[in-house]
Amino acid sequence: MKALILVDIQNDFVPGGALAVPEGDLIVPLVNRLQPHFDLVVATQDWHPANHGSFAANHAGRNPGEMIDLAGLPQILWPTHCVQDTEGAKFVAGLDRRQWDRVFTKGTDTGIDSYSGFFDNGHRQATGLGDYLKAKQVTEVYVVGLATDYCVKFTALDAVQLGFKTHLIEDACLGVNLQPGDVVAAVDEMKKAGVEILRAEKILEPATA
Ligand SMILES: [Zn+2]
Repeated sequence: MKALILVDIQNDFVPGGALAVPEGDLIVPLVNRLQPHFDLVVATQDWHPANHGSFAANHAGRNPGEMIDLAGLPQILWPTHCVQDTEGAKFVAGLDRRQWDRVFTKGTDTGIDSYSGFFDNGHRQATGLGDYLKAKQVTEVYVVGLATDYCVKFTALDAVQLGFKTHLIEDACLGVNLQPGDVVAAVDEMKKAGVEILRAEKILEPATA
């Protein structure tokens, strides 16, 4: 069984959103074309309480981009984003949801952030995604979504750790590049960890790719 994991394709992560990935919405048509090629499709959803510790606004005198210590972990402060039950936390309207088997929310614990779709950043709590995929006999996962250098990367790295044969569909992801080169470095880190990097055409047109 092969599963496609759609990471955080939400309004706040595309242009017009609070923490927009440049051109983040451009991956949506490609993600929609990829979905029918998989046995199982799941999505992750960044889903924070308004008082979440990763928001700069919740730390007096702090600005987005600054580093703090949160529950013993280094934490980048972000603009307020993906607050539960807000427009920004909703999935992008053009995203085809008909084939989705399940949505896994993350970042719900005020005191710790969660980039990966599998665990929080301290690996203290699981979201249930790993157990769910294993119960469905999934052995291979393909990761797409936003953002390559944060949630996509940590989802793919955790997938490898959990024993899934893990692939990154590079052109169906986009990154933030807070620092120039972050996306390139993230792809390199995934490759070194054992993630296969491929382009969507290999799945859409396997005979010619
Ligand atoms: Zn978040």
